[in-house]
Amino acid sequence: MKSEVMLYEGKAKQIYATDNEKVVLMKYKDDATAFDGLKKGVINNKGIVNNRVSNLLFKLLENEGIETHLIEQIDDRNVLVKNLKIIPVEVVVRNVVAGSLAKRIGEEEGLTLSSTIIELYYKDDELHDPMINEYHARVMGWATDEQLKELHAQAHKINDILKAFYDSIGIILVDFKLEFGLYEGRVILGDEISPDTCRLWDKESLEKLDKDRFRRDLGKEEEAYQEVVQRIEKALA
Ligand code: UDP
Repeated sequence: MKSEVMLYEGKAKQIYATDNEKVVLMKYKDDATAFDGLKKGVINNKGIVNNRVSNLLFKLLENEGIETHLIEQIDDRNVLVKNLKIIPVEVVVRNVVAGSLAKRIGEEEGLTLSSTIIELYYKDDELHDPMINEYHARVMGWATDEQLKELHAQAHKINDILKAFYDSIGIILVDFKLEFGLYEGRVILGDEISPDTCRLWDKESLEKLDKDRFRRDLGKEEEAYQEVVQRIEKALA
């Protein structure tokens, strides 16, 4: 089914054409980048973990009525997904203050928010993914009003499902990033949900089990990623 035609190569994944134009193959790499690509490295087996974690979480979401791009995992690193027209707006969902929010509002990391914050960023590497609001997205034609409404509704629902699931396996879902795309006129969830795109803290020790270990040189990245996939598999597989 996979062709040799690579349609796109991102920092952590490659996308290949298949013999069906409505389907693409996504291949997860071990390459890790941070700070707009300034820091580069490898986390061994990261691609395998992210493929597994993302597919298990997408299946969980599908069972709860959220449509995702997932079709079928092919092997360790490869998954067939629906070929979406990606909406160039990254949706960040936050339950606890961390990362760029901590800096922006001058708060310590770790403060639990009284309710969920959703932020939008324009997906553009050259511009370093600037934060935007709904006006920018609508006026610039990146998403319609209706699509923005749908993005927000789905982001809240996804957060409710994932926060409860992670809590059940002893992990705090601090924040995460989502990408959506259009498929047959519908707004559906794409990209990945993995320790690369989420902040995940152990509920007891508050130990970081996500890409911040790489960003902040904390070490034991591979072990943290394995810990996440093992807890998820124990609960879901
Ligand atoms: N995130 C991501 N890709 C991005 C930017 C952010 O997956 O291009 C995720 C990040 O892993 C974290 C959440 O979105 O879980 C919020 O990130 P933040 O705005 O704090 O930015 P960062 O830590 O990347 O500076």
